[in-house]
Amino acid sequence: AQNTPVTVVGLGPMGLALATALTEKGHPTTVWNRTPEKARDLVARGARLAPSVADAVAASPLTLVCLKDYAALYEALGPVGGAAAGRALVNLSSGTPKEAHAAASWAAERDLAYLDGAIMVPPPLVGDPESVFLYSGPREVFDAHRSTLASLGDPRYLGFDPGLAVLHNAALLGLMYATMNGFLHATALVGSAGVPAAEFADLAVNRFLPTVVDATLVEQAPNLDAGHYPGDLGTMEMNLNALEHIALACEEQGVYTGQPRLMRDIAAQAIADGHGGSNYLAVFEVFRKAAA
Ligand code: NDP
Repeated sequence: AQNTPVTVVGLGPMGLALATALTEKGHPTTVWNRTPEKARDLVARGARLAPSVADAVAASPLTLVCLKDYAALYEALGPVGGAAAGRALVNLSSGTPKEAHAAASWAAERDLAYLDGAIMVPPPLVGDPESVFLYSGPREVFDAHRSTLASLGDPRYLGFDPGLAVLHNAALLGLMYATMNGFLHATALVGSAGVPAAEFADLAVNRFLPTVVDATLVEQAPNLDAGHYPGDLGTMEMNLNALEHIALACEEQGVYTGQPRLMRDIAAQAIADGHGGSNYLAVFEVFRKAAA
């Protein structure tokens, strides 16, 4: 319910966005930050600045922690004592699955319910009902606080393993950076012949990209699970040939060759592993093996 009290620990750009959205939606909001001056605007909007982090966590059934990393979490929340026992913490700081597991144990030792989370949007989109927030940890903790979490966006529960939220975050951000780099590198390559980014972007993003990253990848996903890569419409050998030409074109044009060479090497590895006649999706086997 929108009158449920919430605490926000951490008032960087993201913590400020969280606390602002909660205040605007009517939640009595308590905040704490190492640098208390950052709470000034929030207090003017009706939030309460707690005198200590222990007071902040004790003030609400749910505390959202949004700090730089897990080290900052331990540093900031170290002074939280028994007065906060029984409260729930949702940690939205960036980290790794191992760090999330350690934080879940840390919270259990202090009798705090714990969810790990990840925010999949930038600060200006916090509070939009479409904005995806990922959570993992005990289902009952998620269910107990779901309606409060819904004030921030679209809360998605991923499972009991507390590492799942940051694992999905790393995977999705990896996808984002690979896609952004693909676009930027392509733009640099045509730019070497004087083509302005403003001209290329329409062709690349509006016309070409939707033919590559689309629902057919979703349709193909069961084949990834099954390890089934029929090469009848195009083989890995054919793709390696294309990748060689991309790397050579970059060399000729004097643009960065590291990114295309890496992609070429991945396809070459797939062929060395016996996937020369498979379709391109068989590079999934290279990625999977390195991850094991
Ligand atoms: P930062 O990652 O810079 O985090 C700033 C916050 O961390 C401030 O509250 C800062 O306190 C605090 N902090 C840092 N070190 C310590 C410490 N040792 N002890 C106590 N507090 C500390 O900024 P953001 O707000 O942007 O990000 C917060 C989290 O949200 C990060 O993990 C980030 O990955 C994640 N995130 C951010 C997004 C964004 O677009 N900004 C998008 C999605 C996730 P102080 O003010 O005193 O310096």
